[in-house]
Amino acid sequence: MRKKLVAANWKMNMTIGEAESFIEDFRMEVGEIQNVEIVIAPPFTSIPKVSELLGGSQKIRLGAQNMHFEMSGAYTGEISAPMLRELFVRYVIIGHSERRQLFGDTNAIVCKKFHTALKAELRPILCVGETLEQRDAGKEEQVLREQLIESIGEVDEDAFEDVVIAYEPVWAIGTGRNATPEQAQNAHASIRKTLAEIVSPAAADKTRILYGGSVKSSNARELMAEPDIDGALVGGASLEERSFLDIVKAASGEIEE
Ligand code: PEP
Repeated sequence: MRKKLVAANWKMNMTIGEAESFIEDFRMEVGEIQNVEIVIAPPFTSIPKVSELLGGSQKIRLGAQNMHFEMSGAYTGEISAPMLRELFVRYVIIGHSERRQLFGDTNAIVCKKFHTALKAELRPILCVGETLEQRDAGKEEQVLREQLIESIGEVDEDAFEDVVIAYEPVWAIGTGRNATPEQAQNAHASIRKTLAEIVSPAAADKTRILYGGSVKSSNARELMAEPDIDGALVGGASLEERSFLDIVKAASGEIEE
């Protein structure tokens, strides 16, 4: 049984003060929910404050949105895995499509980051997803397969225990247009099939695969009801604690429609 995971990707939003008031309210309201793991990935500058406020919470984990693949060195403006570990970060988003499209994160770079994260005992949330052009050409399965093979590389089954995959169709990110539950389920099933092939069937079965792309409280429940959708990676709707809370509740099965 895979525990649902709902992750907030705040992107380049939330000053320290804004993050503080979000976390204080959100922590109180999330109260009794036990059956969902929650990850918050603030911008780097807000991580120390969020870390302090979460105080090692098991329920709400701290994430980062990116990191460099080297552990240290002359890489101006970059942040390393040990720097994140020092702040009690547990998860790191790797290969988000904005990083791939705007900052040159190729599969080869993503693969290096992925392995550095595992070595540093950070849990990677590895993002894959096709563009609209690739989907229209009927190539989505092939694109996902290539991204997974090239971004994961050689990995042993035990190390894969900590890995989370996020299926984020590029055409659905920040556009208000989400994949239908059926489109998302098909993509997730094909991702699981590829993981079975390149890692192992047992690892594929245990790995949580999140859907990301315009998730809101109004569509979260039906998406997460699909058998291979184990949670959500949420951008825009994670910036406001009420809407993020509703998505967490949908994952926990709390909201009745
Ligand atoms: C994201 O960037 O990971 C994302 C899913 O964004 P949004 O929810 O805003 O589409």
